[in-house]
Amino acid sequence: PAPSEPILIIGAGLAGWTTVREFRKLDTTTPVVLVTADSGDFYAKPTLSNAYAQKRTPAQLVSTPAAKMVETLNVTLLAQHRVESLDTAARSVVLGHGGQTQTLHYSRLVLATGAQPIRIPVGGTGADQVKSINNLDDFGAFHQALGVDPSAAEPAAPKTVLIMGAGLIGCEFANDLVHTGATVHVVDPGPRPLSLLLPAEAGDQLRTALEALGVVWHFGTTVTAVDGTDSGLTVQLADGGVVSAHMVLSAIGLRADTALAAAAGLVCERGIVVDDMLQTSALGVYALGDCAQYASAGQRPLPYVMPIMNAAKALAATLAGTPTALVFPLMPVSIKTPALPIVVAAAHPALAGAWKAGDGEGIWQFTDGEGTQRGFVLTGKSTARRMEQSKATQP
Ligand code: FAD
Repeated sequence: PAPSEPILIIGAGLAGWTTVREFRKLDTTTPVVLVTADSGDFYAKPTLSNAYAQKRTPAQLVSTPAAKMVETLNVTLLAQHRVESLDTAARSVVLGHGGQTQTLHYSRLVLATGAQPIRIPVGGTGADQVKSINNLDDFGAFHQALGVDPSAAEPAAPKTVLIMGAGLIGCEFANDLVHTGATVHVVDPGPRPLSLLLPAEAGDQLRTALEALGVVWHFGTTVTAVDGTDSGLTVQLADGGVVSAHMVLSAIGLRADTALAAAAGLVCERGIVVDDMLQTSALGVYALGDCAQYASAGQRPLPYVMPIMNAAKALAATLAGTPTALVFPLMPVSIKTPALPIVVAAAHPALAGAWKAGDGEGIWQFTDGEGTQRGFVLTGKSTARRMEQSKATQP
C-alpha cells in the first residue's frame, strides 16, 4: 500500500466507529478517513428497540455527536457521502455527495456497510407504507408517525401497530411499543415467537408474557396485503384474518449490505466473505459488522454487538501492524423483552444436537452428539445464571 494514503473506513455504525476507536488506542497518527451515507452521529443501535421503555426520544439516542467523535478520535469524517463504487486494483473509491462525485485513494480499506432490512412483496394500496427501523432516521420517522413523545405530559391517542415478524427485533419492538400505549399485533409464519432461536417452552413463555401486556399474536400466517383507508391501514392475512392498524412495521430480518463489495468483484455469499484476519478476497480490503460473513464464525454473518467489539479489536491490531486472527469467544445475546428477559447463547445452526431442560426454571441447554453443552437459553430470573452457563458451554 502507498503509506501516504489514509486508511479508509466506509460506514459509521458500531463497526466503523469501534474500529476507529480501537485503532486510535494503538496508533494516534496514521490518517484515517471515515465515509458514511448518514450523519455520522454515534448511537447504540440496540436502543432503537427499547427507547420507549427508557423514555428516550430519537435525539436522546445519539450518545456522541459526529463532531465530538471527530475531535476525540482524530479522524476525517465525510458524512452524507455515499461510496458509489470501489476499485480494489487502483485502491480507490468514488464518493457521491450533493450530485457531485470525487475519487479518494486509500492504503487499506475497511467495509462496515451494515445490513439492510429484508423486504417481502406485499400487495395492496398501502404496501409502500410498511416501515422498517434499522437506523436513527428510520426511528425518527416512525416516532413522528406514532405521534408520541415520551416526555410529553399528555399521552397521545394510542395507536395500533402491526409488526411483521416475531424474531428478536419484532419481539423487542412489540414489548417496547406497549410502553407508548399502543395496541400491538404480531404476525409470523412460525408457531411461536423466536421459533428459530429458542426451544419451544422458552418461546411459549415469551408468548404468554407479551400476551399479558396485550400483544395480539397471529402465528402460522403472513401478511398478504396492506391497503390504505381513511383512518389508517387494513392488513390482510393469508389465513383470512383482517387487522386494522395505524402502522405496519416489518421486522422479518436483515440481509448483509454487500452491494458495493459485490459490484467491485469481492467474494460475497450471505455477507462479504472475510478470512480470520477479516480480510476480504481483495488484498488490503477488510470487512466487519453486519455486512461480513466471518470465517471465524464458521462462514456466517453474526449481526450482533459483541462480534463487532471482538472483530474491531482484532482488525485494529492488524491495521496497526500486528497481524491478529479473530477468535470469537462465546457471546450470549440478551433479548430486550422486559416482560420476560432472555439470554441466548446459540450454537452454530449447522451443529446437530438437541435442547434439554436444565436444572431449574427457565434454563435450557443445547448439547451436541457427544453430550457437550454448546449453547443455552435462560429466561426470567435464570438470566442471572449467565456466567455459570457460559463457563459450562463450549463455543
Ligand atoms: P450499521 O449500524 O448498519 O452501519 C452501517 C453504516 O454504513 C451506516 O453508517 C451507513 O450509512 C453506512 N453505509 C452503508 N453503505 C454505504 C455506502 N455505500 N457509502 C457510505 N456509507 C455507507 N445486537 C445486539 O448484540 N444486541 C441487541 O440488543 C441488539 N438489538 C438490536 C435492535 C435493533 C432494532 C436492530 C436493528 C439491531 C440490533 N442489534 C442488536 C444488532 C446490532 O445493532 C448490529 O449488529 C450493529 O449495530 C451493526 O452495526 P454495523 O456498524 O455493522 O452496521
